[in-house]
Amino acid sequence: MLPAKIVSCLHTCAARDNILPLTSGCNLACVFCSHRQNPPAVQSYRLPALPADIIFEAALFLSSEQKIIIGESATRFDEGEPFTHPEILEILRGLRRMFPGALLALTTNATLLSPAILTELAALQPLELTVSLNSSTSAGRRLLLADREPDRALKAVAALTDYGLPFHGSVVAMPHLVGIDDILTTIKFLAAHGALTTRLFLPGFTRLASAELRFPASLWEELSHIARELTRELDMPVIPEPALPADLAAEIYGIIRDTPARKAGLLPGDILTAVDGQPVRTRVEAFNLARKAANPCLSVRREGRELKVSLRKKKSESPGFVMHYDFNPLRLEEARKKIQRARARAPLLLTSSFGEPLLLQAAASFGLPDVTVQAVENHFFAGSIKAAGLLVAADLLAAAQEVLSKQRHDLVLVPQEAFDHHCRDLTGVSLAAMQEALGVPVQSA
Ligand code: SF4
Repeated sequence: MLPAKIVSCLHTCAARDNILPLTSGCNLACVFCSHRQNPPAVQSYRLPALPADIIFEAALFLSSEQKIIIGESATRFDEGEPFTHPEILEILRGLRRMFPGALLALTTNATLLSPAILTELAALQPLELTVSLNSSTSAGRRLLLADREPDRALKAVAALTDYGLPFHGSVVAMPHLVGIDDILTTIKFLAAHGALTTRLFLPGFTRLASAELRFPASLWEELSHIARELTRELDMPVIPEPALPADLAAEIYGIIRDTPARKAGLLPGDILTAVDGQPVRTRVEAFNLARKAANPCLSVRREGRELKVSLRKKKSESPGFVMHYDFNPLRLEEARKKIQRARARAPLLLTSSFGEPLLLQAAASFGLPDVTVQAVENHFFAGSIKAAGLLVAADLLAAAQEVLSKQRHDLVLVPQEAFDHHCRDLTGVSLAAMQEALGVPVQSA
């Protein structure tokens, strides 16, 4: 019997993020698996293989209007391998019956994708498969993933296209353990077997990570460069994550083959300035507008020339170009509303060190010129962790207290990614407790 609190979290995950967690179980033991590096105070949940009735009850909260994400990590649940769930096929068939045309997105390590499962998956389309391959060499798979049967995943990847299953690849870069050549070989293997894109993750490490997981910061730049070079060389965008673009210009990073963007002649380096006449302020805005529209007309800047490019695509279909994630202007609009509702005259906006440069640009150019933006160091996880979703109340409080000791603020806005739907951070501290400690209203935005 699952505790009611967990069931309620599952429902919220489904309703808020369109994510359906199935299990935290996994048949591999990757050296970089994030659950191994969490400080003990982190309140995350390990899920057993959830009973089908609980899964279908949570599925009632999903929306068929957007992609349904299965088996991806969701804030408080440790992610696992969905195909270790003993009822995975029944669950997928049931979801397909509930949501006949919806895109079901699955992330898998591919080790359990037998021919029988691939046949079933081919009949359950539309699917968006992401294969976390990480290494395509026997030595690399043994070392990084503790995969004692390295051929299984490689054979499955090689067969995906034969079963008519489009897929994306992902690789957690560990060049200091397996060498750059292993990464190059793996990305080329994915490209040769038809991956549409491959994400190259620069792994984070926390203060609890072992020495072998700590890598020099210079690796990020080197790997981003390699990703860009491979994108030019292969017919497959290789996307570094995190990418941290320097500005908000809606620049196209890569083009996926056989897509509306490719057919219309869009090129990497093109900058979108408007979609159907609506000027765009960031990459996120440009991509979302282009995705939502049917047959959008794009205003494009290419090497100083202005062009109009029409995409032939359905409403909500992906346009087929890849952009780095930068900033969603809706976030600022939400923050503005909260500031107005609180009648705040001197708001303080706390953000992650990743988010600070782009948030400053966005606030100055189209948002909130009078807001004070403060980046918060992550002392709790420390190491290389800089994302907003991994900030905890203790670090946010310390940063706010330091600012408030020097200047007056009448509202503190904290990143919404750091808090769950009960307004609690990863260690269980609430926004109300922060507000009490600071003596100033605190809201997430
Ligand atoms: S495949 Fe994913 S869930 Fe399994 S050990 Fe590796 S990183 Fe963790």
